[in-house]
Amino acid sequence: MPKRIVIIGGGAGGTITANLLARNLYRQLVSGHVVINMITDKAEHVYQPGFLYVVFDKVRPDEIVRKQKEILDQNINLFVDPAVKIDKENKIVRTQSGKEFPYDFLVIATGSRIVPEDIPGLKEGGHWFYDMEGAKKLRQALKDFSGGRIAITVGVPHKCPVAPLEMTFMLYEYFKQKEMLDKVELFYTYPINRLHSLEPVANWAVPEFEKKGIKSETFFNMEEIDAEKKVVRSMEGSELNYDLLITVPPHKGAPVIADSGFGKDGWIPTNKKTLHNEGSDDVYVVGDTTNLPISKAGSTAHFESHIVAERISSEITEGFSETEYDGKVICFVETSFDEATYIWFNYKTPPTPVPPSKMIHWMKLGYNRLYWLSAKGIL
Ligand SMILES: Cc1cc2nc3c(=O)[nH]c(=O)nc-3n(C[C@H](O)[C@H](O)[C@H](O)COP(=O)(O)OP(=O)(O)OC[C@H]3O[C@@H](n4cnc5c(N)ncnc54)[C@H](O)[C@@H]3O)c2cc1C
Repeated sequence: MPKRIVIIGGGAGGTITANLLARNLYRQLVSGHVVINMITDKAEHVYQPGFLYVVFDKVRPDEIVRKQKEILDQNINLFVDPAVKIDKENKIVRTQSGKEFPYDFLVIATGSRIVPEDIPGLKEGGHWFYDMEGAKKLRQALKDFSGGRIAITVGVPHKCPVAPLEMTFMLYEYFKQKEMLDKVELFYTYPINRLHSLEPVANWAVPEFEKKGIKSETFFNMEEIDAEKKVVRSMEGSELNYDLLITVPPHKGAPVIADSGFGKDGWIPTNKKTLHNEGSDDVYVVGDTTNLPISKAGSTAHFESHIVAERISSEITEGFSETEYDGKVICFVETSFDEATYIWFNYKTPPTPVPPSKMIHWMKLGYNRLYWLSAKGIL
C-alpha cells in the first residue's frame, strides 16, 4: 500500500508544499510507493499580492492568474472539488462530489477568506481590494473619485498585515500624480492603540503619515456602515464620515475547517515549531489557516511549506524528522509607486523597517514575477 499524502488547498502554501514533496519524493512517486493528491476548489491560482497593483492599474488582472494544473508537478494528482469534511478519526477527506480520500499524511492549507457580510452595511457602502472583483471595483471608484475624504478602515485578523499601509501610501502617490492632493483627505483607522499590530512597524509609520498629512484614529473597530449617510461607526462609539470607504474586511478560515471541528472561525490550533495540528502527528497545517501568532502572509506560507515538506519527506524516508519552523516572515512594504521598505522577523527577533528605497521597490516587483517559480518550489 503506498503512503498517501493529501493536501487540501491549492493556494500559496498548498502548492509549494505539494511541489516540494514531489521533488523530495520523486523516486517513491514514480515507483508507486507514494501518492500525492491535491484537493482544491478552483482551477485557477491567483497571486493575491497582485490585487494592490490591479487597483492602481499597474498590472492587468490576467497577469496574476495561472492555471493550477500548469504550476503543479505532473506527478501530483489534482482534484478541483472542494473538501467538505475532514474526518480525523478515520483519516479521510470527503469532497463535494462525494469522493473520499484516505490519507497517511494530511496537509491543510485552505487559507483565509474575507467576510464583509459580518459587518452590517459593508457590502453596500464599502470597497476592498482583497479579492479580484473588489480590486477591479475599487480601480473604477478611484478613477471616478473627484475629491473628499477617503477612509481606510481595517478589521483584524487579516492576511498581509502591511497591505493597508501599502494601500494608504499608494493612494497618496496616486493622488499626488493626479495633482489632487489638495482635494483629497486620507483617513486611516486601526483596531488597536497604534497604526500597526507590529510595534516597530507602527512606530515607523507615524512620521511617514505626518510627512504626508495622513490622518488617523486608533482603537477603531468597525461595527456598522451606514451606506446612505456614508458613515462608519466603531465599536468604541465613534463615527467617521467618508466620501469613499476602503476597508480590509474581517477574515475567517474556510468553512470546512469549522464544519469539521478543527477550530473556531477556521483557525486551526497549530504547533508553532512542528506545524502539526495540535494533538495529531499526521495532520500538518500551513499558511493563513493556522492560529499561530504571526503574520498571515504568503512568505509565512512559503517558509512553513518548506518545513512541512521536509518533515513529511523525512518521516517517509527516514522514519523521523527534527526540522522545525522558527517563525520566519519577510514582507516588502510599498511606500509609494517607486519606493519600498521591507521587514523580516521570526518568533524571537522583532522587525526593523529600513529606510524606503527604489531598490527595495524593484525587488518587490521582481518577486511579483518570480512568485510562479516560488509556487513551483524552485525558488
Ligand atoms: C491584497 C493582498 C496583498 C497581499 N500582499 C502580500 C505580500 O506582499 N506579501 C505576502 O507575503 N503576502 C501577501 N498577501 C497574503 C498572501 O496572499 C496570503 O497570506 C497567502 O496566499 C496565504 O497562503 P495560503 O496557502 O494559506 O492561502 P491561499 O493562498 O489563500 O490558498 C488557500 C487555497 O485553499 C482553497 N480552499 C479553500 N477552501 C477549500 C476547500 N474547502 N477545499 C479545497 N480547497 C479550498 C482556496 O481556494 C485557495 O486556493 C497578500 C494578500 C492580499 C489579499
